[in-house]
Amino acid sequence: MARIVVKFGGTSVATVERIRQAARHVKREVDAGHEVAVVVSAMSGKTNELVGWVNEASPLHDAREYDAVVASGEQVTAGLMAIVLSEMGIQSRSFAGWQVPIRTDDAHGAARIVEIDPTELDKRMKDGWVPVITGFQGISPHGRVTTLGRGGSDTSAVAVAAAVGADRCDIYTDVDGVYTTDPRIVPKAQRLTKISFEEMLEMASLGAKVLMIRSVEMAMAHKVRLLVRSTFDDPDAPQIGPDGLPGVPGTLVCDEDEIMEKQIVSGVTLAKAEAKITLRDVKDNPGVAAGVFGTLADQGIVVDMIVQNIADDGATTDITFTVPDSEYDKAIKALQNAGDKIEYGRLSGSKGGAKVSVVGVGMRSHAGVASSMFKALADKGINIQLITTSEIKTSVLIDEQYAELAVRALHTYYGLDKKDA
Ligand code: ADP
Ligand code: ASP
Ligand code: MG
Repeated sequence: MARIVVKFGGTSVATVERIRQAARHVKREVDAGHEVAVVVSAMSGKTNELVGWVNEASPLHDAREYDAVVASGEQVTAGLMAIVLSEMGIQSRSFAGWQVPIRTDDAHGAARIVEIDPTELDKRMKDGWVPVITGFQGISPHGRVTTLGRGGSDTSAVAVAAAVGADRCDIYTDVDGVYTTDPRIVPKAQRLTKISFEEMLEMASLGAKVLMIRSVEMAMAHKVRLLVRSTFDDPDAPQIGPDGLPGVPGTLVCDEDEIMEKQIVSGVTLAKAEAKITLRDVKDNPGVAAGVFGTLADQGIVVDMIVQNIADDGATTDITFTVPDSEYDKAIKALQNAGDKIEYGRLSGSKGGAKVSVVGVGMRSHAGVASSMFKALADKGINIQLITTSEIKTSVLIDEQYAELAVRALHTYYGLDKKDA
């Protein structure tokens, strides 16, 4: 008998019929003798609709009221899931974040989970109940509803799994696992059987939105093994697999030590809508970078890639960095208004870049991945604007119009294409 936390994403609970399909997966685990807790997202499209209403009501709304509105989608699906499970003969009760409680800080709209009290969930599960918990939300120190940021139900699920000491956290979604790249862009993408926490963390931060970044961070910190699998697989198909895990297609996100064969490149990711900003002739003094990026941080602008040249003349240098397209105008304005905090010659930039990255733990021990990546892109005539690397990834910024071409080229180049496609 195991203790399992299962999470269903938006498309998996998009209609009552789909909730019924999802509930059959829960029933199978309960029938097998496992203790199960469920975490649900809102019906797909619902959160967007709620966010739209908030902005329509007032673009300058109070973040506390934004949370009050957008958290409601999950409450609907949690109640419906509990009703459907009860109808199947499974004792089930829904829990909103505050009822668990899932305690967060008070950063409304992007709150972080501070603590989950497992007492009630633990008791319910031991007594044979299936608690159904609203994803994406918690309660602030002031007793107000908070939300965790878009895609936050993954994080709720992992946090609940860690709190109740679950053996596994199953993330049910609309794909049957984590792929070598987004299968919607590259039909030849292959499902990975296993991927390490570190690789998944890079993939998630680089644009593979199958798991929210913070959920992977949390899984890594608390050693919660994640299984990404599809809600749309037949719930009644045989479920025998290695390691006592379900034998249906899925991807296990686990410790690197559990993976025998380490790939040099495990995946290719794409993040579009990246704007590039360049400050030329910036005074080459200590504190200049702090001035530039402090100015942006004060405006809540998240900066991604950063490149700074060595000063040629010993006096001035150039700094280039990227921000989301949506933050471009704000960033330009902030830098123009920074006054004497930053001394620079010229400011330029453009929207419409795409960041393409290759990820793999094998890069640690293999030289030449970056150069082969540049060659593969050059062969397609794709110009590289910026480059950044870390131990297990290399990213380039290119023109958005070549994004898909670049992803497909690299996917083929590193031998990741499905053989029979
Ligand atoms: P959910 O609503 O269940 O949370 P998401 O839409 O957040 O689902 O995430 C699943 C989607 O992530 C898939 O439909 C797929 O298009 C996309 N995706 C992007 N990169 C990958 C990848 N490397 N592997 C699998 N899916 C990916
Ligand atoms: N419903 C929320 C969103 O759409 C949270 C989630 O689905 O994970 O962002
Ligand atoms: Mg998601």
